[in-house]
Amino acid sequence: MITIPDAEHDTLRLGERPLIVCDVDEVVLEFITPFQAFLVEHGHELQPRSFRLTGNVIRLSDGSETAAEEVDRLLEAFFAEQDGWQTPVEAAADSLAELSGKADIVFLTAMPPRHRTIRRSLLSRHGFDYPMIATEAAKGPAVKALHGARDQPLVFIDDIFVNLHSVKAHVPETLLINLMANDTFRALAPHPGDGVDIASDWMHAVELISAHIGSTGA
Ligand SMILES: [Mg+2]
Repeated sequence: MITIPDAEHDTLRLGERPLIVCDVDEVVLEFITPFQAFLVEHGHELQPRSFRLTGNVIRLSDGSETAAEEVDRLLEAFFAEQDGWQTPVEAAADSLAELSGKADIVFLTAMPPRHRTIRRSLLSRHGFDYPMIATEAAKGPAVKALHGARDQPLVFIDDIFVNLHSVKAHVPETLLINLMANDTFRALAPHPGDGVDIASDWMHAVELISAHIGSTGA
């Protein structure tokens, strides 16, 4: 059994009911749009040329590409100040509140655990009162550690295909949903591949999840 280090998660208590594991950035909190604003304030710009950050950030003063190490530094600064920048994705809070009536919800965010406290309070401030795991480890093993051998429907929502496929590899029975708030970068994203449902927005995600939970006998 793979365990999740205590420093990376809130108290986790799962009921005998379906489980929804949900990403945070671009799924319940806006990330791209506020990060673009943050970059401009610091003299840089994220240009939507391809589905990645590295290589697409330029220095506003001369148009030169911002070095990867500098992008990492800016990202770290953004996460440290996230409560002043990130806002909820449209309909995310109401949708999760509706789903929480029939399933447990756990946030799984790919973020250094040192930013856990600020993210925890930001989520709670916006009504996202569900336990959170913050880890930089692969998401598949984390979902497997969480779900174990439980015989309950499992759903995983994320904007990044690597994460969706990591979960697919470790817990193949999962309903995989690709959801991304930023329309510009969504349009640049590669197709998530077989076995992943693309939700156009949270209302669509609720339809897909409700159908899955209902059809698997919850
Ligand atoms: Mg994300």
